[in-house]
Amino acid sequence: MRKYVIMGVQGSGKGTQAALLAADLDLTHISVGDIFRWHVQHHTKIGAQVRRIMAAGDLVDDDLVESVVRERLGQHDWNYGFVVDGFPRNQRQAEFFLESYDIDAVIHLDLPDTEVRRRVLARRLCSRCGMDYNLIAHRPEVEGRCDVCGGELVSREDDTEQALAARLRAYHAKTDPVLDLFRRKEFVVTVDAQPDKATVQWMIREQLQLPARDDAEQRPASDQ
Ligand code: AMP
Repeated sequence: MRKYVIMGVQGSGKGTQAALLAADLDLTHISVGDIFRWHVQHHTKIGAQVRRIMAAGDLVDDDLVESVVRERLGQHDWNYGFVVDGFPRNQRQAEFFLESYDIDAVIHLDLPDTEVRRRVLARRLCSRCGMDYNLIAHRPEVEGRCDVCGGELVSREDDTEQALAARLRAYHAKTDPVLDLFRRKEFVVTVDAQPDKATVQWMIREQLQLPARDDAEQRPASDQ
């Protein structure tokens, strides 16, 4: 069983890299941000509690985050392991996590703030099927429309200059110290998140000594 945490500032590709890793290793990808977005979209009680906080780029209350994580991991649908993305984000969450679960490695995606800004402000999401786009690296064929379902492309509510500034501040103040804590206790691998996604995935696997993806197309250009 493999249990990983993936950490990195907004826009560093955590969700993408976690999904690539999870896919062929049969790991369960658990994104706390996605769970909260699901609640907002489905107008649940939790959704009502977190919507404004998320839109402002602030962190959701630790008790709520912990109960969501506990509930999600308690489903035990992760026979081969999991990749947790977006958690822990502060010292208290890290302590809760370390007390409750043992992890094999922490994957840290490293991206400078200037690049974060460039990427995040170009990020778009299909309002119908949820497919991710980026106006720099992954443009839709028809402007403003999803290639898959034709749905309208929108920005995430928290991908604004103001919310991004708040999220970056929160990340450096609260999440950087978590990385230091993990560096003292756990196996942390740091990967440069600037190359294209296939290369980043390849570097993660190399550092964790995991098998490369068998799809040749997914290997970095320099390796083909
Ligand atoms: P993400 O998709 O990981 O960027 O998360 C989106 C938003 O969900 C964050 O800006 C927070 O408002 C909230 N969130 C996600 N994970 C956490 C967490 N571990 N602690 C507190 N808030 C979180």
